[in-house]
Amino acid sequence: MTGKVYLVGAGPGDPELLTVKALRALRGADVVLHDALTAPEILALVPSTTKLVNVGKRCGTKAITQEEINRLIVDFAQEGKTVVRLKNGDPLVFGRAAEEMEALRQARIAFEVVPGITAAFGAAAALRTVLHDQRSTSRLVFVTAHHASGKSSPDWGSLASPHTTFVVYMPGENYAAVAEQLVSAGFAKSMPCVVISNATKRQQESYRTTIAQLAQVSTPASPALLIVGEAVRRITAVNSPRNELSAVTL
Ligand code: SAH
Repeated sequence: MTGKVYLVGAGPGDPELLTVKALRALRGADVVLHDALTAPEILALVPSTTKLVNVGKRCGTKAITQEEINRLIVDFAQEGKTVVRLKNGDPLVFGRAAEEMEALRQARIAFEVVPGITAAFGAAAALRTVLHDQRSTSRLVFVTAHHASGKSSPDWGSLASPHTTFVVYMPGENYAAVAEQLVSAGFAKSMPCVVISNATKRQQESYRTTIAQLAQVSTPASPALLIVGEAVRRITAVNSPRNELSAVTL
């Protein structure tokens, strides 16, 4: 009998930010296919009898393609396995779930999606900032600076304004270029922004700056997120350690 596939959000890194449903799916899986940057503390929650497969694009010397990942998910399910495709954050946010769900639909394999806390929400909580403040913001936009198609410069049109919070996923390493794009999209150079890497993980680091100074930020560790807008003006703490609540054992 064909198995079932769960597309599961792992959240931003802190294992306590997994949903109860995600944890149940991890505990019931025969195979877990995870991303390269999945926190080791989350993988430690998977039973030792479960097969763990790192399908991260950074694994090994030869990069694994999205088609190969789709094939693996389908193959394991066709062997009758219960498969968890564990994706960082929320599985449906900038995560190529579209291709995976398409492959599953084509192969007529049953699947469910278990949402997760996306990086933007984990980061905002870790920084104790709002993403939207009704006194200054009327628009919250999630964008990515990276296209799978290889198109290098994203078109943010005129999405930005003094009343917008922009969350940039996959900002890349060229912060000078990102700063230019933010200005072309409509932001003033004095607009506050924050770069946060490894949000909610032990290695979390953050830098509060402005668009004008963004180019001076030394390349943060991966994964990093950039949040731009009036809403982050009040952030003062930098390099704040992760909330101690995460000491609770699951
Ligand atoms: N599905 C994920 C996003 C995948 S795109 C989600 O919902 O969060 C990968 C990008 O997410 C990274 O390049 C980075 O910009 C962001 N990201 C994921 N986890 C992060 C974390 N713990 N800290 C900062 N950024 C993170």
